[in-house]
Amino acid sequence: MKGIAVSTGVAIGKAYLLDSTKFCILKHQLSELEAEKEVDRFREAIEKTKLQMTDIKKRAKKVADKYAVILDTYSLLLDDDILVNDTIENIKKYKTNAEWALTQTLNNFLKLFDNINDEYLKGKKDDLDLLVQTILRNLIGHSQESLSDIQEPVIIVTHSLSPSDTIMMPRNFVKGMATEAGGKTSHVGIFAAALGIPAITGIKGLTSNINSGDQIIVDGIDGEVIIGPSSETLQHYAKKQENYRKYEERLLANIHQPAETLDGHQVKLLANIESSQEIKSLHKFGAEGVGLYRTEFLYLAASVLPEERELYENFKLVVQEMDSKPVVIRTMDIGMDKQFGNVRNDDEDNPALGLRGIRLSLAKPQLLTDQAKGILRASLYGDVKILYPMVSSVTEIIQANKILEDAKNDLRKDQIPFNENLEVGAMIETPAAAICIDHILKEVDFISIGTNDLIQYLLAVDRVNENVAHLYQPFHPSVLRSLKNIIQSAENAGKKVSICGELGGDPMATMLLLGLGKLDDLSMEPHSIPKVKKIIRTIRLDEARQLADNVLEMSSPDEITSFITNEMRVRFPEDFDRDLSFEEKSSST
Ligand code: PEP
Ligand code: MG
Repeated sequence: MKGIAVSTGVAIGKAYLLDSTKFCILKHQLSELEAEKEVDRFREAIEKTKLQMTDIKKRAKKVADKYAVILDTYSLLLDDDILVNDTIENIKKYKTNAEWALTQTLNNFLKLFDNINDEYLKGKKDDLDLLVQTILRNLIGHSQESLSDIQEPVIIVTHSLSPSDTIMMPRNFVKGMATEAGGKTSHVGIFAAALGIPAITGIKGLTSNINSGDQIIVDGIDGEVIIGPSSETLQHYAKKQENYRKYEERLLANIHQPAETLDGHQVKLLANIESSQEIKSLHKFGAEGVGLYRTEFLYLAASVLPEERELYENFKLVVQEMDSKPVVIRTMDIGMDKQFGNVRNDDEDNPALGLRGIRLSLAKPQLLTDQAKGILRASLYGDVKILYPMVSSVTEIIQANKILEDAKNDLRKDQIPFNENLEVGAMIETPAAAICIDHILKEVDFISIGTNDLIQYLLAVDRVNENVAHLYQPFHPSVLRSLKNIIQSAENAGKKVSICGELGGDPMATMLLLGLGKLDDLSMEPHSIPKVKKIIRTIRLDEARQLADNVLEMSSPDEITSFITNEMRVRFPEDFDRDLSFEEKSSST
């Protein structure tokens, strides 16, 4: 069965079918007095759930920091007036049991979500649903710890996993996970990846095809679940599992080596982070700094907006941990798929083209002032740079720089020291910035190419819409020409250029990107660093240039994609042609 691979590796073992079917809720009519008591019972269940969430969060912090941030959303939902107050009102108005009233509130919410076509909000819908199931369990008195009785190695198979499920599971015994629900960025994936457990989500009809105790294989490399494998298939996957383990081990051996081509051209490999808590784990992947700190995630969990002091302390922590290595702090890029209710709540028909990134910061200058001051103050402790997102004209840079200058003046007045030479950069992620790159380059010290958005806007393909996912083609000639032009313009202007979108961390694209022109940095998800470094260390720059020149002659995205895929498979069979080469490799290693 096919699904979305969210955590790589291969797991072979017995299935443990976790029943996540929802409770059947019956309606009970209550008297006036009983309804009042029911409100108290509901409040108690909410308090109990809050305590459980706090406890889970404490434990989650030890496992994966990103995961703990997600759990804050659950606490916020529990404090949310609508969920709690609507239910209390329902209990009083209809004089029904709390379980029924809560289910009504949930259903009303889910109907609203169904009319929205937005990946980020869809994720919130799952969160809300899972949270309500937890409250229901507390109301009904059902145990929350169904997974804790596992006493032997298993692969968890279920419709969906709540954060409490994942935290409760005995990690030594969980070898893999497969779920029907969830997408690439679901909490199951983040959790599994942090623990190195192979996992696949989004497998339709999974639970009706598997029984507890069945032997199954979770192939988190190719996103497949194999049920009841033959001994031949088992042998094949045991080999694949072993080879993947060895492959990862070999990759990590390069963490102290530079990312340098055979003919001596170096690129810095930096990490993209979303939370200061990720910083400690960067060293193990050999990150040479932080190339993109997505600060908007600081606002995700906040019930009050973080201000200068809190921002400063957070940035300082990151900068100090990175020692003298560069740290590029991006001012918040709220908007589109990253909407945070506390910062903005105006509905937009077309949020990708709406008030996002630097546009929002300029519309609410106090937000930018606080960020600028936090960044300036942290600049004293290391090699800090500021980066503006979603720039579409020099005017925005000039306006943002004016706010930065005012922030500097305020700090000077208060005799607070900072680095006077803080470098300023612009994200190049709109066609407007890409076309007028020469103008932009005059206003900044460096640029960072955000390919995630640049591709979306160049190709007019929504980056989070699964209906047009096949048209989201990083190897489209328009994208490649545009990248070449941006990189070359930066070189001509003597300014540094980095790529920080997903493409920068895709080993399939590494050789081509290097061939497009002089790149200073590539910034990516930390675990991609060793893979990309491996490619760089085994190629020559002149070969990469030749490859890029060949590709730039081609007119069709499909032709380029298959050319690159073939070329990479031949050059790096171990990395890109896993199924076949793992067979061959295992006999030679
Ligand atoms: C990008 O657009 O490529 C980028 C790095 O920014 P984000 O993914 O945060 O929009
Ligand atoms: Mg972007």
